[in-house]
Amino acid sequence: MNKSSSSKSKKTKYIFITGGVLSSLGKGIASASLGILLKSRGYSVTIQKLDPYINVDPGTMNPLQHGEVYVTDDGAETDLDLGHYERFLDVSMTRNNNSTTGQIYFDVITKERKGHYLGKTVQVIPHITDEIKRRMTSFDKHYDFVLIEIGGTVGDIESQPYLESARQLALEKGRRNCLNIHLTYVPFIRAAGELKTKPTQHSVKELMEFGIVPDILLCRTEHKLSKDMRAKIGLFCNVNEDSVIEAGDVETIYEVPNAFAKRGLDSIVLKKLGMKEHELNLETWTKFTSRVKNPKYSINIGIVGKYIAYQDSYKSITEAFIHAGAINNCKVKVQWLDSELITKENVADSLKGLDGVLVAPGFGSRGIEGKITAVQYVRENNIPFFGICLGMQCAVIEFARNKCGIHEANSAEFKKNRYTVIDLMPDQRNVTDKGGTMRLGAYPCILDKKSKAFAAYESELIYERHRHRYEVNNNFRDTLQENGLVLSGLSPDKRLVEIVELPDHPWFVGVQFHPEYKSRAVSGHPLFAAFVKAALKHYRAVHDTSTEEVTE
Ligand code: GLN
Repeated sequence: MNKSSSSKSKKTKYIFITGGVLSSLGKGIASASLGILLKSRGYSVTIQKLDPYINVDPGTMNPLQHGEVYVTDDGAETDLDLGHYERFLDVSMTRNNNSTTGQIYFDVITKERKGHYLGKTVQVIPHITDEIKRRMTSFDKHYDFVLIEIGGTVGDIESQPYLESARQLALEKGRRNCLNIHLTYVPFIRAAGELKTKPTQHSVKELMEFGIVPDILLCRTEHKLSKDMRAKIGLFCNVNEDSVIEAGDVETIYEVPNAFAKRGLDSIVLKKLGMKEHELNLETWTKFTSRVKNPKYSINIGIVGKYIAYQDSYKSITEAFIHAGAINNCKVKVQWLDSELITKENVADSLKGLDGVLVAPGFGSRGIEGKITAVQYVRENNIPFFGICLGMQCAVIEFARNKCGIHEANSAEFKKNRYTVIDLMPDQRNVTDKGGTMRLGAYPCILDKKSKAFAAYESELIYERHRHRYEVNNNFRDTLQENGLVLSGLSPDKRLVEIVELPDHPWFVGVQFHPEYKSRAVSGHPLFAAFVKAALKHYRAVHDTSTEEVTE
C-alpha cells in the first residue's frame, strides 16, 4: 500500500461520492478534480473506487463493454477511473484503491470456507458490509482525505451494500468526519424550454432511503443553473443553496478542477469537515490547462486498433496524447483506424495525412494483419511510429517478415509454427487460468544509452507497467539485430526485450510495456512527448516552412 504521504498519524476525513439519475456523468472526473483541489491546498489525498459488478477484476472484461483496463504499479487490473485519479492527483494508485463486489464476496466466502465465521449465518449485513468497511478504511490515518467513489447509480440493486456501508461508517467515524457528495443530472427539456429538477429530487429521495443525506449536490447540466434553481433544488433535497453546485460542461476534463474551484466546492468541503482553508495553489495546473486549450500547432496521429468503436478502450492513450501535446505546444487530433479494415491495397489511403501512427495494444488475432500492414507502411515511408505492447509485437513480426526474410513470422498467440518471433517464455507454458497468467505491473528496464528511448527518458533505469503474456522470442534476437533492429531496452537480467527501435528512421519505437498508464497531466510521459515531437517535426516538414524551434 502506498502510505508514503503518511509521516504522522492523521485524522482521516471520508468523502463519499455517489451518482444518481444516470451513469456517465463523470463521477470519476469529479472525484479526481476534488482530489487535486484538496491536494493543492496542501492536504494528502487518496481516492478509492468501489465497483458494484461481480467480476473479481475488470481484467477479463471486454474493453468494448467496460473501457480500458487500467494497471497499477503493483499489478492490479483496475477500473479506468484509477487512471483519472493518477493523472489528476499525480500519485500512484495501488490495488487497495479499487474493490469490486466480486472481490468482496470472494474474500468473505473464502473466510467462510475456512471456518472463520464460527458457524454463524453469513449475511450481507454485517459480513459483506464489514468487509466493505474494512476496505474503505484501509487508508485510515495515512491521509487527510480519503475520497470514496461508489460506482453505478443510486437505485441499482448492486450498489446497495456500498451505500449501507457508507451510512454505517459515518456512524462509526462521526458525522463531522464524513461527507456525502451526490452527482446528479439536471436535464434541459427543449419543448418546455427549461431545466428540470425532478430527476435530482427522485435520486436524492432514493439516497435518503438508505439513510444518507447529501451534504453537497453536484448538478451536471448543459445550461446555467440559476440561483432560483439552486434554491429550489436545495429546498426539495434538504441541502442548503450554497451547497448545490453547478457542474456545467467544459472544453476539456482538465478544466473541471478550475470550474469547481470557481464555485467554491473545495472551500465548502473544508468548512463542512471543519478543516483549515489553506491557500489554494492551482498555478501549475492552470498553466497546463491553458497549454491544452491554446496550442500553436495541430497534428494528426492515427491510432490503429480493433476496439475503436468504444474509445474509452484506449483512455490512457488518448489522455497521454493530450499531455504530450501540451508539452509540445500542439493539439493532437486522433484519427481512429480500424485494424480489421486496413489492407495492403488501401493502407496508403488509410494513413494519408497522418503525422504519426500508434499501433495499439490488444489481445487475439482479429485485426493483426491490418496492424502489421500499417507498421510496414510507416516504416518504409518514414512516418513516426509508436507501438505499444501488441503494437510492438506487430512491429517485430513485420520486421522479421519483411527485413529478415522470415515470411511466416508470427506470434504464438495467433499461429503455432517454427517462426514464432513472439512467444511465451519457456517457464510460462502450460498455464491455463485466464485471470492470472500475465506479466502485470511495474518492472525495471535498462536502456541503451545511444537509443531514442534513452534520449526521451534521460535515464538508464526506468520502471514501466506491463499487461501481456507474450514476449520477443530470444531464439530470433540475433537475426533481428543483424538486420538492423535495435533492442534498446532490456530487463536487468537481459532475458526480456522491453523496447525495440530503428536507428535509421525518424522515430520508430515499440515498447512491450504500457507507458500510457504513467502519463500524468502536468508532467506527461517522456515517450509520448518524444513521439509527438517527432510527429510535429513531420508535420512541419510538410506544412510549415518557418524555422522557429518548437518550445517545450
Ligand atoms: N496479446 C499480447 C500479449 O498477451 C499483447 C497484450 C497487450 O497488448 N496488452 O502478449
